[in-house]
Amino acid sequence: MNELEIAILKAELLHGLGNCTHSHYSTFEFDDVSYYQYEFERLETMTRKLATSRALANQKDVETVLMDVELQVSIHLAKLLEPTIDPALAGTITSRIDDDEDGNVVICGVCQEEMEKGDEARAIEECMHVFHDSCILEWLKIKSTCPLCRAACKPKKLQFQEIKI
Ligand SMILES: [Zn+2]
Ligand SMILES: [Zn+2]
Repeated sequence: MNELEIAILKAELLHGLGNCTHSHYSTFEFDDVSYYQYEFERLETMTRKLATSRALANQKDVETVLMDVELQVSIHLAKLLEPTIDPALAGTITSRIDDDEDGNVVICGVCQEEMEKGDEARAIEECMHVFHDSCILEWLKIKSTCPLCRAACKPKKLQFQEIKI
């Protein structure tokens, strides 16, 4: 077992979590929770075992080697997950339908139908135009711009806070 193999197992586990039919952790069935807890703990144990054997072989401190191993796993994991990010999903957010200030109904710019309260809606992050969830996801399979204003729908770069030590 090496860092790459651990990263692959972790990626598969995260993929499974993302595809879980329950969208929120709090609504997970008990079996799901214990399965994922068990699997993540198993990977942690594997990581520690790898670090321990490597530390022994190189006569180094286990905790120092462990930090290095965890970093290598994270690097592999980041590279594995990057191509799996769907640009449409990454550039949009789920939204809700509300009448505007004047009480006008909102029209979906894709199907031209009224959007009713409670409809599953999705907004393009760049311009915050709102559409039916399924309408905009179909649209974004063909074009990567907003149907109303042509704002680009692209995944935002992660914004990291400045790390202060
Ligand atoms: Zn629509
Ligand atoms: Zn727009």
